[in-house]
Amino acid sequence: MRETRPGFGRVSRQQDKTMLRADVIPKHTDSNGWWHILPKAPPSRALEGAAQARTLVIGAGVCGIAAAFRLGELTPDDEIIVLEAERAGFGASGRNAGFMLNLHSHGPPKELNILRRNMNLWASGLSDLRRRVQEFQLDCQWSEAGRFYGSAGPDGEKHIDEIAKTLDALGLERSWLDRDAMERRTGTRFYNRGLYTPGNALVNPAALMRGCAAHFPINVTLFEETPALTIDRKPRGFTGGFPGGFTGGFPGGFLVKTPKGEVSCERVVLANGVFMGHFGVAKGRYVPMATYASLTAPLADEQLAQFGSAEEFGLLGGSEYGATIRLTQDRRLMVRNYFNHMPNAPMPGARVSGPIAKLHRQAMLARWPDMVDVPFEHSWGGIMAFTGNDGCVFGAVEPGIFAVLTNDVSPMTRGTASGRLLADYMEGVDSKLLDLQLGMAGARRLPPRPFLDIGIAYRRAKLRWAAKQEF
Ligand SMILES: Cc1cc2nc3c(=O)[nH]c(=O)nc-3n(C[C@H](O)[C@H](O)[C@H](O)COP(=O)(O)OP(=O)(O)OC[C@H]3O[C@@H](n4cnc5c(N)ncnc54)[C@H](O)[C@@H]3O)c2cc1C
Repeated sequence: MRETRPGFGRVSRQQDKTMLRADVIPKHTDSNGWWHILPKAPPSRALEGAAQARTLVIGAGVCGIAAAFRLGELTPDDEIIVLEAERAGFGASGRNAGFMLNLHSHGPPKELNILRRNMNLWASGLSDLRRRVQEFQLDCQWSEAGRFYGSAGPDGEKHIDEIAKTLDALGLERSWLDRDAMERRTGTRFYNRGLYTPGNALVNPAALMRGCAAHFPINVTLFEETPALTIDRKPRGFTGGFPGGFTGGFPGGFLVKTPKGEVSCERVVLANGVFMGHFGVAKGRYVPMATYASLTAPLADEQLAQFGSAEEFGLLGGSEYGATIRLTQDRRLMVRNYFNHMPNAPMPGARVSGPIAKLHRQAMLARWPDMVDVPFEHSWGGIMAFTGNDGCVFGAVEPGIFAVLTNDVSPMTRGTASGRLLADYMEGVDSKLLDLQLGMAGARRLPPRPFLDIGIAYRRAKLRWAAKQEF
């Protein structure tokens, strides 16, 4: 196993010397449209009593699922347990806009050499997800639909040109659409121009995540509705009955407590997304930001007629803060916009259904004014991690405790790659891709609060103002 990677995610001093304690447990609102439109989930299996595994993965989002898959494949004789506080894919990974991207989504252009490097990770994550969808025949509306960028104001105009330039420099296919062509394709004259590029997939993310978790290798056991409450470092002399000692783990191993049980293990993987900081890991190195989406019921024929060709599409705002829009395979309209800082806690439901759903409605009517009688059936939010420098949290935090967090730049595909690579790292499987991942900057320390809050509020207001015509 490689050396512990310095410079990120050390356990914060507030945590006990022998124990890490989760001071916040996820509780997402039960309004995720992607989840609700699926057949009822089979009953969950929660952990009751004592269990033992070589590796325990905490969190069944995109990173945890990818790590558990790969660990299961690489170490077929080991037991791996995954603990998920809610249901697999019920967190951000199952409630996003469903763009499985091959490049950074939007925002200002990044340096080309960094993009080229990151493209390897996005491509690897995308191909892992695609392979799983094919292998397990996952019914998740996966489509290789590509994406449009639309610009409706000066900020979008500027950015969409930069995006086109970046695509050209990277040798990626793209084509322009004028206002008429955009109207033919999407049914709205809202956008001055559009830019189309293939290479990414669109999906129902809840179906994708739930489907992946249902097909874990045989040596991976998932316990849902089972939050990890504490991670206790066992005394060094304790062997826990594991044959062959503790390779790559804490000498005494760990005891992880849950509400009705406990897991003894050699190694712990923290793949619990924005809740990682609540265990004292990577605290102050990422910002938890909530963003929100709404979904209609399937549109009737006459409603669908407003959408130009009525073919499925995914559209990102040219501006960094612009709305994301989708017309899904099953004829639903999805709108995502708005961000807010969520430093401490899971989001309260009231925030999602009230004013934010109203913003989604405004965005819909600004584009398709005749949709006035079409209600959103579901409005929800989720929290994602932003880092200050596109940096990562990846590797060993201390002997036996590993962490992986995907950041804000096309996180679903990047998280799939990073989760898989963390398993490789733990098992000593070298590759060029792992070197790339290890070569990335760690998420840098952010300013303390309240300076951070002020900075975020200022940046958010600035971005929102710039993107006001694309909101
Ligand atoms: C509305 C919205 C739209 C987005 N659109 C896109 C998009 O189109 N494309 C894209 O690439 N990204 C998108 N994102 C971002 C992306 O969804 C996230 O960055 C990504 O899913 C994070 O994955 P993760 O595995 O790190 O975290 P999560 O998916 O949050 O998974 C972490 C899991 O850990 C569990 N957990 C936490 N604490 C504990 C504990 N103590 N014990 C047990 N389990 C625990 C949580 O319940 C959760 O299921 C969007 C996000 C949102 C909210």
